[in-house]
Amino acid sequence: MPRHPSRFPALWPAAGVRGPVLAIHGGAGTIRRGALTSEEESAYRLELRTVLGRTAQMMEQGASAMDAVVEAVRMLEECPLFNAGRGAVYTADRRHELDASVMDGRDRSAGAVAGVTRIRNPVLAARQVKDHSGHVMLIGPAAEAFAFEQGLERVEPDWFGTPQRLAQLERAQAAALGQVLDHDGQQALADDGRHGGPARGPIDESTKFGTVGAVALDAHGHLAAATSTGGMTNKRPGRVGDSPIIGAGCYADDRSVAVSCTGTGEAFIRAAAAHEVSALMRIGGLSLQAACERVVVDELRQVGGDGGLIAIDAQGNAWLGFNTEGMYRGVVRIGSDPEVAIHAD
Ligand code: ASP
Repeated sequence: MPRHPSRFPALWPAAGVRGPVLAIHGGAGTIRRGALTSEEESAYRLELRTVLGRTAQMMEQGASAMDAVVEAVRMLEECPLFNAGRGAVYTADRRHELDASVMDGRDRSAGAVAGVTRIRNPVLAARQVKDHSGHVMLIGPAAEAFAFEQGLERVEPDWFGTPQRLAQLERAQAAALGQVLDHDGQQALADDGRHGGPARGPIDESTKFGTVGAVALDAHGHLAAATSTGGMTNKRPGRVGDSPIIGAGCYADDRSVAVSCTGTGEAFIRAAAAHEVSALMRIGGLSLQAACERVVVDELRQVGGDGGLIAIDAQGNAWLGFNTEGMYRGVVRIGSDPEVAIHAD
């Protein structure tokens, strides 16, 4: 993936304001301005606003941070615009293998599923693993069996697919790109001029990391994080990225911060990115902003990591940033209108 200058968010909710606050992301990547109509761009913004509006209402009525982040990610999984749940990318053998995780900062309890193919909402399965399995991570068919025992909805494996994602896989395979992130493949294809056509979406579908995630601080001062993904287009069957790995793509600790990541999963695992933010704050004494910038600019770049993260600290500060050109993102404070953004500015 081409290197981009580091970009930081236009969204900086007032520092030091406690109280319910929730942030979401729908992936980061290269922006292709003008690649879509304002109506198409509006669809992304509307979806982000809808999710923020719904979860803000829940938190206003007393929902916990954990309930709010799970609902935000469930809604994003249902939306085919994003690479999680319905609309997930394809593996090299034309299937979908989904990963998700949740973490509660109150007691650092956590749950995750990886490589699941038939659970409609993987984030709900991650929550069930946290609450009812006695474990932190379950994988594959056994994770599915557990989820169905807990009453979660089963779908046929092809329920997750969309024609756009299949075309993305076919173009990646035709160009022999190997394993590509959700949106990297289309960028390379568009760039080489052979497969043509601007990618769809305000962020180039070929360079966007399509994972979705949410972080929140509730009225009781508790933090939570949730992350869900289809992974990378054309990934090897069995490949697991950072999204379901606690400490890599998801982390929450009431003593410091809640974090959800999106980007090149292997690098985020090697950087232990989400936990690194927490450790820099809790042990290193860095501010939210300093810790996030250090991870996104320095630590991830040292291991070739492209992408971004969203984070909310125990004081209610929010940081939404990335080292690519854009990230679908939004934040809402109870009593204020949701703010959403896509591009760096
Ligand atoms: N981090 C995800 C993974 O590597 C991909 C993404 O963020 O889109 O599976």
